[in-house]
Amino acid sequence: MEITVTYLLNSGFLVRAGRTLLVFDDFEDQQDIVGQAIRAGGHDAVYIFASHAHFDHFDQHILNYQQEAARYVFGYDIRRTKRGRMFPQDKVTYMRPYEEWEDACIKVESYDSTDTGVAFRVTDKAAGKSIFHAGDFNWWDWTGETAENRRLAENAFRKQLKKLEGMKASLAFFPVDGRLGPMQDKGAREFVRVTDIGALITMHDLTESGWQPAADFFPAARKFPVWSPLRPGEQRIFTV
Ligand SMILES: [Zn+2]
Repeated sequence: MEITVTYLLNSGFLVRAGRTLLVFDDFEDQQDIVGQAIRAGGHDAVYIFASHAHFDHFDQHILNYQQEAARYVFGYDIRRTKRGRMFPQDKVTYMRPYEEWEDACIKVESYDSTDTGVAFRVTDKAAGKSIFHAGDFNWWDWTGETAENRRLAENAFRKQLKKLEGMKASLAFFPVDGRLGPMQDKGAREFVRVTDIGALITMHDLTESGWQPAADFFPAARKFPVWSPLRPGEQRIFTV
């Protein structure tokens, strides 16, 4: 199966997987990549995900796709926001951590985040292939923070990471934020060690750091493609 991924901005991606279009954390999309793909057709259903309510993950313009969207799948924290209430509620599923939602085409499992909202694992039922999008789940190890806060961030990260042990996904989207400086890929390194992923797509790097994996980034005896898009519109096709 071919999965075509187009970078939107920040943690935003358009994913064409088989007969479905999946949109994750669509932010700005000034090139109207999602709108064009929706109008071009060639798919059976469009699903629009927003992991949490932060403006750079949940952008109001996705309301423009309410006719075409089969479903909006949102992190639970969006329910209480003014912007969240603008959406047709009969088309929205809100997920708390560790819940499942499914229809005839896809199954969605939610995981907890280290920030607000959730992470998603989406399985294409026909192909049996899964995609993981971390939302803001990460080891947010800010070097400027107090030792106590850094310890809390690590604990929160490790606690949720446990729940991801053995998680299988053909593609995984995970933050590698340049603002973290030397700690930029700390979370991703741990994530790829406990999960079973076919490819890694890095995100949440508006600093455009151009991060690339060092040789020791990969777990022993395991290699997988890594893609770190820089500019909106960049596209990659994965055969899974
Ligand atoms: Zn974020």
